Amino acid sequence: MLVQKFGGTSVKSVARIKNVASIIARAAEEGPVVAVVSAMGDTTDYLMKLAHQVSGSPNRRELDALLATGEQISVALVAMALNESGTKAVSVTAGQLGITTESVHTSARIVDINTERIRRYLDDGNVVVAAGFQGTTPAGDTTTLGRGGSDTTAVALAVALGASACDIFTDVSGVYTADPNIVPTARLLKEVSYEEMLEMARVGAQVLHPRAVELARKHGIPVRVRNTFDPNHEGTILKGADEMEISRPVSGVTVDRDQARLAILKVPDRPGVAGEIFGALADQRVSVDMIIQAFHEGGLVNDISFTVKRSDLETARTALEEAASRTGAEHVLADEDVAKVSVVGAGLMDHPDVAARMFSALGREGINIKMISTSEIRISCVVSDEDAERAVRVVHDLFHLDEAHDEPDSDQD
Ligand code: ADP
Ligand code: ASP
Ligand code: MG
Repeated sequence: MLVQKFGGTSVKSVARIKNVASIIARAAEEGPVVAVVSAMGDTTDYLMKLAHQVSGSPNRRELDALLATGEQISVALVAMALNESGTKAVSVTAGQLGITTESVHTSARIVDINTERIRRYLDDGNVVVAAGFQGTTPAGDTTTLGRGGSDTTAVALAVALGASACDIFTDVSGVYTADPNIVPTARLLKEVSYEEMLEMARVGAQVLHPRAVELARKHGIPVRVRNTFDPNHEGTILKGADEMEISRPVSGVTVDRDQARLAILKVPDRPGVAGEIFGALADQRVSVDMIIQAFHEGGLVNDISFTVKRSDLETARTALEEAASRTGAEHVLADEDVAKVSVVGAGLMDHPDVAARMFSALGREGINIKMISTSEIRISCVVSDEDAERAVRVVHDLFHLDEAHDEPDSDQD
């Protein structure tokens, strides 16, 4: 059994829907296929914009009810196109299918998938065309999995059905050393480890949704990223790090522009104060990254700054201002003009010079670094949004990522 997923650009128009149907039909000649489909083109953006025209902060339950309609249109059209070309197919929504999620609107996690109905349709010789991105709560309300969540639907279905592989079809030929739309010389990676991909996805490589990668890693599902417009291209395969023959210090450079920076200044220095501030943010379900605490002379107060998703900025700012008045902090600053540029590589921890070289290269280009954070396999710098794409190209050039370093034993500069 094979799960195939087609993203928004792959089903943007009638002609593209027909192209997708022919890819699915070919796969269906080999064995049972479940196809997961996203909303057509920019439909989800359009629906989001509509909601914000009606309300400044749309009710999340209703927002999910609205957003899920995009996928409902595309599954019906793809199933129609398949039937039209002689491949038996049936479309299903998450509700019909039985994809149960938590009751957390706009970023729900899947808790259970009932495969009974899919199996029945497959046994009857159908291709099942399933709506990505959506779920239902145990009470029957519609939820969504967060932007880009159709990848997660596809991998979760592959896990639940015990599929042999999950193919993610998109508008590029696989995972590259950087977004090929930003860095024209970016190189296609034939294979990438789950760990590297997870880190890249978390810091901006939207080619795969991080939760899809997490699930694939946990269950060892081979995920292939392939091009809808060049379906015979092998693309990129995700593997366990221990199955890979090569390890490279730097596998890719990413940029995340959905970022904002907040700072709370002159926070009284006493035990428990950080817990109080970040507890207030957690209560509002705001995820925080890159926390930096800097002390003032005299040691009585600290400044704390951190990054959040740009879409969480207003919620976070309100919660932080309340926390500032409760804790006796002086005031709160917000900065929307930021983007996070990261290098990711499983071999980074053995190359302590990578960070220094990255900072120096950005400095030589006159790009100011506003914040820095590192993990074992990642170095991230927050820079001004207008510098972000240039920074990605500078770092990509610095590590010669356009050149192949994939041969075993090669030593990447
Ligand atoms: P889909 O609609 O198929 O889900 P997405 O827009 O979510 O497609 O993801 C594909 C896009 O991801 C590409 O068009 C590309 O611009 C972007 N991207 C970002 N980083 C990378 C990367 N490292 N490799 C490939 N694509 C990337
Ligand atoms: N249609 C949804 C979005 O645009 C889900 C997806 O495409 O993966 O975010
Ligand atoms: Mg996507």
